[in-house]
Amino acid sequence: MATASTDVVMPEPAEPVTLAQDLELIPIPAVQVVRRGDGFDFLAINRAYRLAGLGVVADRSAMLRALAPRIDAFLRSTELRSDFEWSIGEVIDSRYYRVTLARPGQSVRDRCQIGFVDLTAQIHTERSLRREMTTDSLTGLPNREGFSDMIEAVQAKRQRHAVLVVDLERFGRLNACLGGLAGDELLITVARRIKGALRARDALARIGGDEFGVLMGIDTDGDEARHLADRIHRALSTPFRLSDYEIGVECSIGIAQGDDALDDVEELIRNAQFAVKRAKAGSKVESYQTQAFTIAREQFAMETALRRAIEDSRLRLTFQPICDLSSGRIVSFEALTRWRDHEGVEQEPSNFIPVAEETGLILPLGRWAMEEAARTLAWLDTECGGDCGMRVAVNLSAIQIQRDDIAGVVEGSLIRHGLPGERLTLELTESAIVSDPDRTARAMHALRALGTTLAMDDFGTGYSNLAYLQKLPIDVLKMDRSFVTGMLADRDKMAIVRAILSLAQALGMKTTAEGVETNELAQTLAALGCTYGQGYHYARPLEAAQTLALIRQLRARGR
Ligand code: C2E
Ligand code: CA
Ligand code: CA
Repeated sequence: MATASTDVVMPEPAEPVTLAQDLELIPIPAVQVVRRGDGFDFLAINRAYRLAGLGVVADRSAMLRALAPRIDAFLRSTELRSDFEWSIGEVIDSRYYRVTLARPGQSVRDRCQIGFVDLTAQIHTERSLRREMTTDSLTGLPNREGFSDMIEAVQAKRQRHAVLVVDLERFGRLNACLGGLAGDELLITVARRIKGALRARDALARIGGDEFGVLMGIDTDGDEARHLADRIHRALSTPFRLSDYEIGVECSIGIAQGDDALDDVEELIRNAQFAVKRAKAGSKVESYQTQAFTIAREQFAMETALRRAIEDSRLRLTFQPICDLSSGRIVSFEALTRWRDHEGVEQEPSNFIPVAEETGLILPLGRWAMEEAARTLAWLDTECGGDCGMRVAVNLSAIQIQRDDIAGVVEGSLIRHGLPGERLTLELTESAIVSDPDRTARAMHALRALGTTLAMDDFGTGYSNLAYLQKLPIDVLKMDRSFVTGMLADRDKMAIVRAILSLAQALGMKTTAEGVETNELAQTLAALGCTYGQGYHYARPLEAAQTLALIRQLRARGR
């Protein structure tokens, strides 16, 4: 079949075609037709139409027969001109045209002119380009683009589906050790093996260097996706033979169910990739849980709110007394941060301090807590007409020690409020020592040089390195509340408390027991030689005004 000139691009929109125009001047196939009985007859045919082999006898022209309903509808309408894209033939050798119908005048009801721009070659080029763009040249599989297209097609049909992302472990290393060619070979073999594990209607794509995507239809409420993941694991479990080596390839698989994000292809793939990250951390196969994202979002919301609370100074400190166990006198107060959010809800430090540490907000928060503690202590002194006789303990996070000039911050607050370092205790956790022992040691010596007391907080819960404990300038070990509360009824806890107390004695350190909730506990701890106690038995954390009232009361009683 002779093809029409496909290179000629009709000026778009074309000059209005009229029947008066000489058809032969039109470079594209064009005919004029007239209604005749049930069908149409040619009034005129141009050379391009004849050369394209589109037929010269009206009732033998497949083109005209196929178009008859459209011509009919056009003539029935009042339109002067109509353009549309149209194809004829079977899928494999179909031809595509842009068809223009035009009538010579509004009143003409039985005749029109038809022009054809052949789009076939253009569409074929576009398709093969698209195919190239959506195919991975190494494996011949669809690439990331192609994978998205496939998912889109399944979603358009509203079929239940799941996406699996298969990520190869240590592929980068293998590639570097064995060379790119061997790496390529391995990828091709891996692709073949994964393909072998799939069912006929599942589809495989290579969506990244060492990342494959599987699109699977879901038919039952069973765990089809997990079963498929297991099959893929098994398929990859036999070592691969590459030149002289036998190489084991491990993979992690993330699963995301299509129903969760039915109309967002990218989100679906992202969810599966998110699940892969979690799979790498342990289980090898992980399904995407909306919950994990919800937690991330909640944390993000908390971060934003906390940042604003710090800026708008909506944080405050409460002060919990610490008693000398032998005399029963209050000797200091631990400053504990409180945050009432904009809805009036008191947020728990156990929730927001970890977020502050993760986001770096602990730096401004910690600076604020130090400054506020010093300010309050100076205020208590003023209200008491001189030294109120109490110390204040401030919590320092490991992050502050790693990232802030902590000695500078503490010294600044002391100077601004005219306080000697001796009035201040700093509580550090073991995690600081673990993460950077040298820096922690330097910071602690600098703090000690300011005259402050240093306490190791939550002692017993971390990985205490006794060698370090001995080298660091620690004055007080603060036993974690988890050993203290309930120790009277638990021999193991009691044994730990005794061990910590004797360790502290051996190292010449004082001790504080947290979580002293009963008098009996206070008595026992005192008898065991513990120096200080803190807990609900004495008082809950107090607001600054209550703290002042308590101190005044004690002073009035001469204590
Ligand atoms: P922590 O340093 O171990 O503080 C002691 C916690 O135990 C406080 O919880 C206190 O209210 C609670 N507590 C005291 N006595 C008792 C008792 O007898 N029974 C029980 N069940 N609990 C008692 P809070 O105020 O919720 O603080 C939790 C943690 O948040 C603190 O633990 C501390 O690690 C952290 N934190 C609080 N404020 C700050 C701060 O300004 N900076 C830093 N870095 N951390 C802070
Ligand atoms: Ca503490
Ligand atoms: Ca503690």
